[in-house]
Amino acid sequence: MSQQLRDRLAAASRDAWATLLPTECSGCGAVDRALCASCRLALAPSVHAVTRDDALIWAALTYAGPARHVIAAYKDGGRTDAAAALAAPLRAAIVAALAAVPSLNEPNQRGTPRDIHLVTIPSSRLAWRVRGYHPVDALLHRAGLHPSPALVQRTDALDQVGLGRAARAANKSNSLVARHPLDGVSVILVDDIVTTGATLLEARRAVFAAGGSVVGLATLAETRRLLHR
Ligand SMILES: [Zn+2]
Repeated sequence: MSQQLRDRLAAASRDAWATLLPTECSGCGAVDRALCASCRLALAPSVHAVTRDDALIWAALTYAGPARHVIAAYKDGGRTDAAAALAAPLRAAIVAALAAVPSLNEPNQRGTPRDIHLVTIPSSRLAWRVRGYHPVDALLHRAGLHPSPALVQRTDALDQVGLGRAARAANKSNSLVARHPLDGVSVILVDDIVTTGATLLEARRAVFAAGGSVVGLATLAETRRLLHR
């Protein structure tokens, strides 16, 4: 190998190293490799059920403090290095949702256990263009689970960015549609953060409209809602 080639390879691997190994914790900014020990601890799942409308949703984390920073940096700050640390709590929320399905182990008419599809919320085209990946699907893959792309955004739905609160709600209703009939299909809906629940409720409506049934809802984190606002 020529010295020149050797130098070039060394420089390339230095650049790759800098790109692949972030030097700040995405939770608190401390100088660390990617996630410091205390922020890692803040991502330990503490699965609990929350309600939005009539829906019971399993969430692994509270969207606050370091967890909030890590999730936001993962979704919108290019910090995909947090995927492994976030996949574990998401998986824990899904396990809780699965455990709560009453008839999970009862055989169906064909005598086989029921299949449950993990359905995520499709990205808007803008979000897809900006990120280049689907944050929740990527976490599911990381957790060894397979997201089902059963839903799509209706092409006439607007991106939520820049819309006021009422316009967002109106835009969200009927914004999703199933790709194909879901007759007899059992679904656990999976999302990253639940705030008002409007997105999950819209996804549930779209699954029902296609003939499927939603047997559980799971999210990585929930935003604690203030009661008097
Ligand atoms: Zn940290």
